[in-house]
Amino acid sequence: MSQTISFDLLVIGSGPAGQKAAVEAARNGASVALIEKTRELGGACVQRGTIPSKTLRENALRVKNMRMNAQIANFKLAEDMELATLINRLSEVLEAHDNYMRKQLQRSGVELIHGRATFVNEREIQVENVSGTKQLYRSQHILIATGSHPRKPDDIPIDHEHLFDSDSILSMLYLPKSLTVLGGGVIASEYASIFQALGVKVTMIDKYPRPLGFLDDDLTDTFISGFHHMGGTWKGNTKITRCFWNGIDAVVTECDDGSVISSDKLLCAAGRVANVKELHIENAGLQLNQRGLISVDDQLQTDVAGIYAAGDVIGPPSLASASMEQGRRAACNALQIETGNMHNTIPAGIYSIPELSSVGLSETQAREKYGDIFVGTARFDEIARGQISGIQNGLLKIVCAKDGKTILGVMIVGEGATELIHIGQMALLNQCSVDFFVETIFNFPTLAEAYRAAALEIIHARKLRA
Ligand SMILES: Cc1cc2nc3c(=O)[nH]c(=O)nc-3n(C[C@H](O)[C@H](O)[C@H](O)COP(=O)(O)OP(=O)(O)OC[C@H]3O[C@@H](n4cnc5c(N)ncnc54)[C@H](O)[C@@H]3O)c2cc1C
Repeated sequence: MSQTISFDLLVIGSGPAGQKAAVEAARNGASVALIEKTRELGGACVQRGTIPSKTLRENALRVKNMRMNAQIANFKLAEDMELATLINRLSEVLEAHDNYMRKQLQRSGVELIHGRATFVNEREIQVENVSGTKQLYRSQHILIATGSHPRKPDDIPIDHEHLFDSDSILSMLYLPKSLTVLGGGVIASEYASIFQALGVKVTMIDKYPRPLGFLDDDLTDTFISGFHHMGGTWKGNTKITRCFWNGIDAVVTECDDGSVISSDKLLCAAGRVANVKELHIENAGLQLNQRGLISVDDQLQTDVAGIYAAGDVIGPPSLASASMEQGRRAACNALQIETGNMHNTIPAGIYSIPELSSVGLSETQAREKYGDIFVGTARFDEIARGQISGIQNGLLKIVCAKDGKTILGVMIVGEGATELIHIGQMALLNQCSVDFFVETIFNFPTLAEAYRAAALEIIHARKLRA
């Protein structure tokens, strides 16, 4: 091993958290090394998660729309459709993203180190490259941004051939005729509805009564009814007793209610686990918390001074969007760079079909916290743009405090939800009164007009109560 090399900041992991941290620190004049063990940059977000699933979703929507317009085009998906055909633009998207990231790191002067990082002590990291060569790096500031991988329950024999996890699902060669999805979280809901939109017969099974339990029932009802309408089956309140490939032609899933589901393939989406095993954080005096994650304070600093952590490795919200900002902030905090306010109000975007998005408190959370509140809703089929675009199953809901003015949260289900939510987010962060949505002139016809309609409902109820 040659001499130890020193940097102002060592970042482990090139996902959204690590990448933004490295660039921010380097732009502010620090010497920064970004250590990544895989050949590709971008982490789960770029390689296996966000971008691949959203690329498939884009094509699933096209397929769904073509089916809806069957009168115009007599559309049928070819038998034995290769999955690669349905994510045909993925390699272009990934290549463009990879090029952009490499250029950005280069331009910012970040040193990219290819290899697996392990803590030697609280200031030193050993990096082993593919040929087994080891090199020591030293810094006063280290950021752990190693992300997460799918949780593999002991009783689900994932083989990545018939039974997949969310990292391997897109490695299926052909679009299956049927798919069982275990789980009711974000990833399960996204993939279940995307594959159903592609014409795969999807059965989604979860132990909870509804998918996406952190959202209000009226939103998840809209999601479930849209999923059923496309031909999917939601089986809530159901536990799996056994799950196996029968060796011939099907994955068999046995449930505690006695039902047995046979499908071509199965996706297990049972949450994610922090990537910490190879790091040997104990060498730095760190340990995992009870949830198997790295704990940080509001500066994103771990229990060891100088060691920071950001992204999936610290747990929820486990979103690429939040990870980027955490990474940037961790770097700023480490190097004493001004960060600006940290907002706890992070929007959740669920790219199922239909989309769902929320920011701030849900109606259920607001009622639990404050009791008396105001709620205004607008259905997309009552809005001109919704009628024109044929968006039937859409809903926007504003949750307001007892004064009928202070916005507490916004929830949306329907196409465009993940973009529309930002209007509500800005109003919430700027502490606008709900009246602001009525005083503002929105383009007509737009879905954003739903804000106006929902706000009017609240103002009307406020007047009645006055
Ligand atoms: C199917 C799916 C869909 C998703 N969709 C969305 C979405 O629509 N919107 C959204 O905001 N989020 C989405 N997410 C979540 C998002 O992908 C993650 O929150 C985000 O990637 C976390 O970023 P990160 O930087 O913490 O870690 P990661 O992106 O996981 O990156 C960690 C990096 O660290 C590297 N690494 C690990 N250990 C070491 C080591 N010892 N040495 C060197 N390198 C190491 C890994 O190789 C990896 O490149 C989705 C996730 C999945 C799985």
